[in-house]
Amino acid sequence: MIVVKNVRILGGEPADLRIDQGVIAEIGQGLSGGEEIDGGGAVALPGLVDLHTHLREPGREDAETVQTGTRSAARGGYTAVHAMANTSPVADTAGVVEQVWRLGREFGHCDVHPVGAVTVGLEGRQLAELGAMADSAARVRVFSDDGRCVDDAVLMRRALEYVKAFDGVVAQHAQEPRLTQGAQMNEGVVSGRLGLTGWPAVAEEAIIARDCLLAAHVGSRLHVCHVSTAGSVEILRWAKSKGWDVTAEVTPHHLLLTDDLVEDSPVGAYNPIYKVNPPLRTRADVEALRAALADGTIDIVATDHAPHPVEDKETEWSAAAMGMVGLETALSVVQESMVETGLLDWAGVAQRMSVVPARIGRLTGQGQPLEEGAPANITLYDPSARTLVDPSAFASKSRNTPYEGMTLPGRVVATFLRGRPTVLEGKLV
Ligand SMILES: [Zn+2]
Repeated sequence: MIVVKNVRILGGEPADLRIDQGVIAEIGQGLSGGEEIDGGGAVALPGLVDLHTHLREPGREDAETVQTGTRSAARGGYTAVHAMANTSPVADTAGVVEQVWRLGREFGHCDVHPVGAVTVGLEGRQLAELGAMADSAARVRVFSDDGRCVDDAVLMRRALEYVKAFDGVVAQHAQEPRLTQGAQMNEGVVSGRLGLTGWPAVAEEAIIARDCLLAAHVGSRLHVCHVSTAGSVEILRWAKSKGWDVTAEVTPHHLLLTDDLVEDSPVGAYNPIYKVNPPLRTRADVEALRAALADGTIDIVATDHAPHPVEDKETEWSAAAMGMVGLETALSVVQESMVETGLLDWAGVAQRMSVVPARIGRLTGQGQPLEEGAPANITLYDPSARTLVDPSAFASKSRNTPYEGMTLPGRVVATFLRGRPTVLEGKLV
């Protein structure tokens, strides 16, 4: 039994939590007994849930493993992650998703829910064994070819129809491939000045519009990964106004960073640390994404944690891999972009980083409100702390963060997974 003293649930009044046998047994004042942990007035949130994590195992264990990735997640306050399917081999069979699920059970510092590929080998030609993955021990409910777009409209329609049978969802990486051939960064004034091939907003927006229409046509669930443009927000707002079952995510980096960093940043021009898919967009896009996350047009924050080894990032811009690590900085970046700006309170953060992602992934036992009888999946967060981002201190195996040397608000103090601390005093247990 553990008693966590002096925490503020969703930023409210101070209270103590008694945790017993993996659940929150009691919430009250002056609780004592068992092992006592001083919460120090930290904000208590339901354990964070990421719908979009790249754990890289199997196949790229030099970048991340289930063990290091879930350590990174726990450090960031996460108690569950969805592991994307673009591994090697691709998670497109019951066998591979069960392998990832078992690795999570054995080595995970948080729950690991494999995402199944939509198409065999992510090749966009033939549907993967969606039903077998759903029926497997991993009980897959989220399907995505993330990293690639399911651009064939017939295949996308079939996938949306298929997942209805088990209440699954297709998570689309919206990127029209022909419009983005060779694309290096956001298409706009900065790409023009730098002479880098542009990645037009319409390449994302056209796919989102099509998929919303397809999802409505077949009456299925669509989730849109990493929305990055103001135009995408307008399409989602329209789809939701129709009552269609469409959800969307935004990454922390798209809430904070802009494309002009490619030209001028503290780490110089053309620094591939800012190379990411979808690309960083303009200030106007960032403002639209923040407003959309605040008003619910965008439902959740998902990290798109994309670890890469140094040799794949520290190279010339055009050859560098796309992506950033994100699990250990996500909550701080959300505080900076959404809480300090007055757009969200802590209850709003809990909805968007725990409750709703768990609901979209159809997880039970995660994303539950912090009340008596609920599973003790808890994140304690000190929003008054200031943290200098030092990638060498990351639990992730990779270091490709765009925030190196920046001071971000807040610090994860502790994380509890079913009552067991995975992080205490900011350190892995
Ligand atoms: Zn993606």
